[in-house]
Amino acid sequence: MNKSERPRPTQIVSAPCTVCGSADIFDLITVGDMPVYCNLLWPSKEGALAAARGDISMGFCRHCSHIFNRAFDPGFLEYTQDYENSLHFSPRFQSYANRLARRLVEQYDLHGKDIVEIGSGQGDFLAMLCELGGNRGVGFDPSYVDEGAENGRPKSLGSISFVRDYYSEKYADYPADFICSRHVLEHIPQPAQFLNLLRRVVGQRQQIVLFFEVPNVLYTVRQLGIWDIIYEHPSYFSPSSLATAFEQSGFHVLETNETFGGQFLTAEGQATDDAPAPPRVENVNQLVQDVAVFARNYRNKVSFWQERLAQIARQGQRAVVWGAGSKGVTFMNTLKSQDVIEYAVDINPRKKGMFISGSGQEIVPPVFLQSYRPDFVILMNPNYEKEIGGKLEALGLAAEILKA
Ligand SMILES: [Zn+2]
Repeated sequence: MNKSERPRPTQIVSAPCTVCGSADIFDLITVGDMPVYCNLLWPSKEGALAAARGDISMGFCRHCSHIFNRAFDPGFLEYTQDYENSLHFSPRFQSYANRLARRLVEQYDLHGKDIVEIGSGQGDFLAMLCELGGNRGVGFDPSYVDEGAENGRPKSLGSISFVRDYYSEKYADYPADFICSRHVLEHIPQPAQFLNLLRRVVGQRQQIVLFFEVPNVLYTVRQLGIWDIIYEHPSYFSPSSLATAFEQSGFHVLETNETFGGQFLTAEGQATDDAPAPPRVENVNQLVQDVAVFARNYRNKVSFWQERLAQIARQGQRAVVWGAGSKGVTFMNTLKSQDVIEYAVDINPRKKGMFISGSGQEIVPPVFLQSYRPDFVILMNPNYEKEIGGKLEALGLAAEILKA
């Protein structure tokens, strides 16, 4: 019997903070039975409905302001990165990454040095760092695909190699002047343990600079990004909790920055033998209020949509979700909407005919709506309201747009 066939209560566990170990945790929000890999699409409805699920129980640490999923099950760590972050293909993201690489090369005098990247993907960022400063690079990533001679770009430089594995202490011998990792730490169930491992690897090589980039939870909280909370992220860092994670693990923080329009958070540090600095209380206190507002708004927004979808069902009307990315998947799964919403629209032709993980809606192209004739189109990204309004008009549809 698979998990989707038996409803089960959300398991609330009283796990301590995964950054500082404090037991002073304030429970923010709970949502049960969410797909473990929300960006995996399924070729059949049965497969989608039977997808592995887990519970999300967000806790806020009153000591260091870290936000984390207390119900996260590390048994789901089998992490195939079929999952692609569409962000990485946007020109805005690319130009941001390029500016970031230039800043790091200049600020830390990365010329003729050894660079290690943990979670390097296909090595785009590592290649930038190596090209800009004539550096040597080693990228660690279990999902690395050797594209061989046709696209030998990183290898043709002769200065970059890849290890198709998770980074661990067995690679401590690799020379390093700079260790970087982008969008990895938020996926690690015990981030402090991981940083402790790095501290052991660094040992007395205190000149090594450590650089981490993660999503900024302040952005999610301020923008009320309630559909951004996904199972793949057991950790949500604020500047304070990222700095605490560094300090607690024996790294002195050189600087933290909010970047990419506030969506990301970066931190740089160096190993130290000094005792860790305590978290900055003023930052934690401000965030206590913000997250309380966020949690209240979250519950209000979920109740609003539960009621709205029930009303649509009662009136025999039809609604579709526009946008089958992680926000749309989270929306449909949070609201357990499968009885009301049958289809999700997406313009990406590769998603056509696939099914949403967990809630099982079929993904259809916009033209499908001409025969389905929905009464409502629920929009996951409000930035596209005008564009989608225009598309609906061109299709001869008078559906009302609702913004999620
Ligand atoms: Zn903490």
